[in-house]
Amino acid sequence: DPRLHAIKTNIRVVPNFPKPGIMFQDITTLLLDPKAFKDTIDLFVERYKAKNISVVAGIEARGFIFGPPIALAIGAKFVPLRKPKKLPGKVISQEYTLEYGSDCLEMHVGAVEPGERALVVDDLIATGGTLCAAMDLLERVGAEVVECACVIELPELKGRERLNGKPLYVLVEYL
Ligand code: IMP
Repeated sequence: DPRLHAIKTNIRVVPNFPKPGIMFQDITTLLLDPKAFKDTIDLFVERYKAKNISVVAGIEARGFIFGPPIALAIGAKFVPLRKPKKLPGKVISQEYTLEYGSDCLEMHVGAVEPGERALVVDDLIATGGTLCAAMDLLERVGAEVVECACVIELPELKGRERLNGKPLYVLVEYL
């Protein structure tokens, strides 16, 4: 798709952020280009508009940038999956392991009903641990995860293999 080139070139790579040796993929520069930002959303909307998705679950924080415009365009609700102790209502929590230590995602109880068809959205997949935790939350409340969608994949980290066969759709790979 000819739109992908401008999407890729508008993502900035910042070396040694947030720590030495990390090549940080910065999507804030993509947001500065209205055409490339809109094309990013449109590509996801074209893929998901006829898939009967009732809920888009966005992962804090950058899943909150891409998830809501997709949800609005396909007529789905948006549910934020947040870091611990941010949501005010009753939550279910899912811990996941990071390279050093662990982290956790939370979702409001009652936000997603059993049998709902869900799309999980984030900016980037690295090791896949975050998307796994998001899918676990949705499946624990009886939803069906149709697919995970990210703007960027770091294929060398093989996160795709950690998703237990769940389909992953990405726009850009960074090698
Ligand atoms: P994973 O759990 O190892 O797949 O890491 C993915 C999570 O870390 C996502 O929520 C990303 O937003 C974040 N992340 C990891 N590396 C980067 C990066 O280079 N740029 C932006 N976000 C990143």
